[in-house]
Amino acid sequence: MCGIVGYIGNREAFPILVKGLKRLEYRGYDSAGVALISEGNNLNVYKTKGKVADLEAYCADKDITGSVGIAHTRWATHGEPSSVNAHPHYSESKNLAIIHNGIIENYADLKKKLQENGVVFRSDTDTEVLVQLVEYIQNKKEVDLLTAVQVALHQVIGAYAVALLDKNNPRQIIAARKQSPLVVGIGENEFFLGSDASPIVEYTDKVVYLEDGNIAVMAPGEELKVVDVFNEKQNAEVKKVNLNLGQIEKGGYPHFMLKEIFEQPECLKTCMLGRINSEGSHVTLSAVLDYRKQLISAKRIIIVACGTSWHAGLIGKQMIENLCRIPVEVEYASEFRYRNPVVGTGDVVIAISQSGETADTLAAVKLAKEKGAFIYGICNAVGSSIPRATDTGSYIHVGPEIGVASTKAFTGQVTVLTMLALALGNVMGTVSHDDYISIVKGLQAIPDKIREVLKLNERIADLSRTFTYARNFLYLGRGFSYPVALEGALKLKEISYIHAEGYPAAEMKHGPIALIDSDMPVVVIATHNDLYEKVLSNIQEIKARKGRVIALVSKGDDTISKLADEVIELPDTLECLEPLIATIPLQLMAYHVAVCKGKDVDQPRNLAKSVTVE
Ligand code: GLU
Repeated sequence: MCGIVGYIGNREAFPILVKGLKRLEYRGYDSAGVALISEGNNLNVYKTKGKVADLEAYCADKDITGSVGIAHTRWATHGEPSSVNAHPHYSESKNLAIIHNGIIENYADLKKKLQENGVVFRSDTDTEVLVQLVEYIQNKKEVDLLTAVQVALHQVIGAYAVALLDKNNPRQIIAARKQSPLVVGIGENEFFLGSDASPIVEYTDKVVYLEDGNIAVMAPGEELKVVDVFNEKQNAEVKKVNLNLGQIEKGGYPHFMLKEIFEQPECLKTCMLGRINSEGSHVTLSAVLDYRKQLISAKRIIIVACGTSWHAGLIGKQMIENLCRIPVEVEYASEFRYRNPVVGTGDVVIAISQSGETADTLAAVKLAKEKGAFIYGICNAVGSSIPRATDTGSYIHVGPEIGVASTKAFTGQVTVLTMLALALGNVMGTVSHDDYISIVKGLQAIPDKIREVLKLNERIADLSRTFTYARNFLYLGRGFSYPVALEGALKLKEISYIHAEGYPAAEMKHGPIALIDSDMPVVVIATHNDLYEKVLSNIQEIKARKGRVIALVSKGDDTISKLADEVIELPDTLECLEPLIATIPLQLMAYHVAVCKGKDVDQPRNLAKSVTVE
């Protein structure tokens, strides 16, 4: 979950590291730290609780010289967020420093053994165990850092991306990965390291995405060396990274989240580019062309995902079942992977993850693959672990999502799932030509309709202000709008810390109605569709109990306007495409409520963008 940055070359490392950490701060952010090897080969570690800006302030009067360094933003798993537990961690002699993303599962055993051998620990982290183990092996076996790291990693159970410095070998950084992402940037006589390419792109476009089990040795003047724990040379393919700086900066918006909400029309256009033809008469997905046989013969589809991606999966289920007539189950990846699921040959598993690094989803993919299922990935981060572990897939191509609360990735995922259902339904002959054409055209028109909804931003900001008092919110929707209700509630929870529940509207009577009183805002998605009358009755039930209704309605609806306290009018679209429209005001509402409450919208407490721990 944390962010890792490294630099070795001839430039001053500190500014590069701090800038890189800021780019990665969305990944984890309870503390930050840096280790630098200065001129006289001193290995200096500076770290503090708080954000990267706190680290900068802390370092103001310190020696921050040096052209070799590693830096980290932490999302604590073992040991409270504190300056002692922040990374980098020194070894006992202070000759080594380590940064780590992930969890060392067997840290307690290793720590006990090291303590029995007299090693003294400074922190409560699992990470410190690794650096102490490396030093212990170095001393005991009189081996160099690389060999010691290889021996140590052999003993470690867990997930990691690590980087180490050794003051006795000051012109090298050693990095290793297992289940946590790590990218090496290759410059002229210099190397960069990052949890993703964002800290690297302004210096070089040449990168190597490390694979699980890779250990990289970066030494300026030498080629990048990539080996495994047995010292076998590993393939390190240099790729060109396609990310521009504008994509990872705020571009005039006060928060990344707002920028990303407003980017959705353009992002979804990019997502459909080359997939829907300009006449809006055909959808092509290369994965469906290349793996047609495996996909059309699916007995069943299982969607595995977490959080917002799981909500997109619920919409995908309805879409695929409607258009392809294949049964679809939607599972939380974390449950699926641990419950000995019935899955195997003939099943298609669709894994959805924005970052492509979600630990539980990746594990679910591996499990399903072992059991013989065909795996289809739907991810945003190109070159990330899930796309590499799947048989095929479709990127959502919405650009880097920095705000921790997912917005454009959600609509991108729904768009890809819709295109997948259309392309598959078309080759299977399970969707009528008329339906196919009207959904393709409807999808093509979505970016303009989202633009229309975004014009309501001011109105939604005003409305949101009046609801900041609330301690609970209820979100209701039916059919395709039910997952939208779940997603709306999740957005509010994530960034405003107001408790919110999403429910299928008809389920309200079976429990949540007990919560409704004059303090309770209830957001109802009540657009004109087959279930309109039913939702109308639900609104009446809420009003009868004095609940405050915020209704999302179709343009020109004057029935609900008379009943509801607040109304947001949405442009018409097909029912199955409504999630792509109705989600937008809920994203904006969550955003404005959180801003009014003075919350840190882009980096909400306790959350991290890329959940690389289970
Ligand atoms: N498990 C480590 C710790 O708690 C690393 C957490 C992270 O990935 O930031 O310090």
